[in-house]
Amino acid sequence: MAIARRRRIAVVPGDGIGIEVLTEQKQLLALVNEQRKLGLELVDKDWGAERWLKEKVGLPKGSLEDLSANYDAVTFGALGDPRVPDMAHGREILLGMRQGLDLYANMRPIRCLDDVLSPLKGKGEKEIDFVCFRENTEDLYVSLGGTFKEGSVDEVAQDISINTRKGVERILRYAFEYAKKTGRKKVTMTDKNNAVRFGGGLWKRTFALVQKDFPDIEADHLFVDVAAMEFVRQPERFDVVVGNNLFGDILTDLGAALMGGLGLAASANVHPGRIGLFEPVHGSAPDIVGKGIANPLAAFSTASLMLDFLDAPLEAKLIDDAVRLAVKKGPKTPDLGGKAKTADVTAFVLDAVSSGL
Ligand code: ATP
Repeated sequence: MAIARRRRIAVVPGDGIGIEVLTEQKQLLALVNEQRKLGLELVDKDWGAERWLKEKVGLPKGSLEDLSANYDAVTFGALGDPRVPDMAHGREILLGMRQGLDLYANMRPIRCLDDVLSPLKGKGEKEIDFVCFRENTEDLYVSLGGTFKEGSVDEVAQDISINTRKGVERILRYAFEYAKKTGRKKVTMTDKNNAVRFGGGLWKRTFALVQKDFPDIEADHLFVDVAAMEFVRQPERFDVVVGNNLFGDILTDLGAALMGGLGLAASANVHPGRIGLFEPVHGSAPDIVGKGIANPLAAFSTASLMLDFLDAPLEAKLIDDAVRLAVKKGPKTPDLGGKAKTADVTAFVLDAVSSGL
């Protein structure tokens, strides 16, 4: 197969098990690249706690411009280190990239890869299979607000939730477009417009408007509290789910639990036409760092999402199939109830990919 084009990827392992799982992911990407001649070019970036502690630099000056101009994707591990308790470096690096590159759509597939992993009675692979979109640039995460009389018994604290018509419309449209493109039939918008009047009202009105452009997709609505209940009670009713930054954050962790845990959940941060940022949903997991037991499968599924984004759908599927096989037949790390080491899981997946399955 000829090299279709250069695909330049910035590799940002970050901290903790982020570094461990990206080491494994790089082996997988190198193998697929060698086998299928994808033209992947991996460039390491040392952005994380270590550099922050030495130089007080999170995202070096000019990084966003460099990423936009010279890269096609970022693969990211995790940030979080006990030596930086306020996560100041994390805010600068990860939120800096999400906001600075305007990666407004955070996509998290929720799918159970094997019935035995499901925490729900009678619900497994067939029932748990949907995709969540979380608005990634607005709401309570914009750091607008402040405190008054801080530290006193009269302290007042305020965080302002920002919702713009442009921001809400583009994530809703993205969710519908995704449903259309992938043959999914229903988009469920989740908010709390019965209690949160203004932002909720904007979401409700914009949803009513956008759905008119997608007559073949069913437009569905649930208040977020009901959606949380339904994730557990009836996951099969979901196909594509879309919500604001905070609700999306909470619901997708619940979704990760439906899949069998954080060791399996992958995510993408995208804005059509721009560089994409791909990361496992889990954090740096300081409790298991250095033990060699971090589950690399979330990072492998993340690599699959990234290759799909980079127009390599066959290779994305190959990795996806290998992950599914690993979950069903391969060695399992302790988070999935096994005794295997990270390296054992990687060896199984590399072997599966090498053999073409
Ligand atoms: P951070 O502050 O960086 O988000 P955290 O420990 O608070 O880290 P996570 O890393 O997201 O949060 O995960 C919570 C727990 O889930 C971890 O402490 C770890 O025990 C487990 N966990 C998360 N990811 C994995 C993984 N890939 N493999 C094994 N266990 C994991």
